[in-house]
Amino acid sequence: MNLKETGKFVISLDLELNWGVFDVFTIQQYRNNLLGAREVVPELLKKFNQDNIHATWGIVGFLFFSNKDDLLKEVPDKVPSYDDMTLSAYQHIQQIGENEIEDPFHYGSQLIHLIKQFPNQEIATHTFSHYYCLAKGQCADNFETDLSKAITVAKKHHLSIQTIIFPRNQINQNYLTICKKHGVTRYRGCENHWLYKITGKQDNPIKRLMRLLDSYMNLSGQHIYDLDELIQKDDVINIPSSRFLRPYSKRLRGLEPLKLRRIKIAMEKAAKERKLYHLWWHPHNFGADLEESMKMLDKIITHYQMLNDRYGMESVHMGELANTLLNDSSKKKDEDFRENRGVSHAIYQKA
Ligand SMILES: [Zn+2]
Repeated sequence: MNLKETGKFVISLDLELNWGVFDVFTIQQYRNNLLGAREVVPELLKKFNQDNIHATWGIVGFLFFSNKDDLLKEVPDKVPSYDDMTLSAYQHIQQIGENEIEDPFHYGSQLIHLIKQFPNQEIATHTFSHYYCLAKGQCADNFETDLSKAITVAKKHHLSIQTIIFPRNQINQNYLTICKKHGVTRYRGCENHWLYKITGKQDNPIKRLMRLLDSYMNLSGQHIYDLDELIQKDDVINIPSSRFLRPYSKRLRGLEPLKLRRIKIAMEKAAKERKLYHLWWHPHNFGADLEESMKMLDKIITHYQMLNDRYGMESVHMGELANTLLNDSSKKKDEDFRENRGVSHAIYQKA
């Protein structure tokens, strides 16, 4: 089927447990979400399997371990040189428990083992140490060390990493060549709007409030993407985000229908116009209220199924989408090449 014939629905998940939030919350503050995340993962996999949803799981490399000894053996010689060392996961290692049973917040080998058993789920990297590409003090060498470690550790689990989801969506354009050098050829970019521009500094409260409002009403547009435009140059392919899926909020439950409506409208537009809609979140977002958040997701998936029936919209993970785009573009190049050859052959015959 020609790529342009159907819209695409992509889901990506950032699996990080406490490695993604240790600088923001204490374990006590975020305990329910983190423990909940361990229940969310199997629930999502079950749901995705039932409804044939393909998804990309960007996983922090530290989570591949089940005990501290094995993790410590893989600590690279050079760790990130952030100006603010409280951002460094390596600073935090000393405080973690010995293994996954004793400390379910910092190890994820059981979860990864489970994800691997399900079909149509891509395992991507969320860097080895939840690395911040725009943080002050770090450098390209630091990033390369981190990325190659993430790839090596995944390889030991028979996984080939080709997709990256940058922590806190901090995308450093200069690092994309490093990704490419290591065979990582696609990443999740941000929405193309100033509200979603990531600078590496903490956003001011007004910007944060506007982003919250944007989840309920259309302030920034639909963020759906023309598939042809995703592959303009032969570089690392950006498969940008359409929306961060906020979990069910008890406090804002009156607004939940607006949030869903906003997502459904954009999905439908993408399906009709044969474009991309890309939704993402962290499993720990669902951790505090698994039941209500899963009900919310259920409504989104039911909507996708209607769009699949009506317009042929397809659920694909980031890797599948990138491969389809590349195949389509190389087919197009072949066709162009054949056409050109045909023309020159015709000229030759005339002469
Ligand atoms: Zn993260």
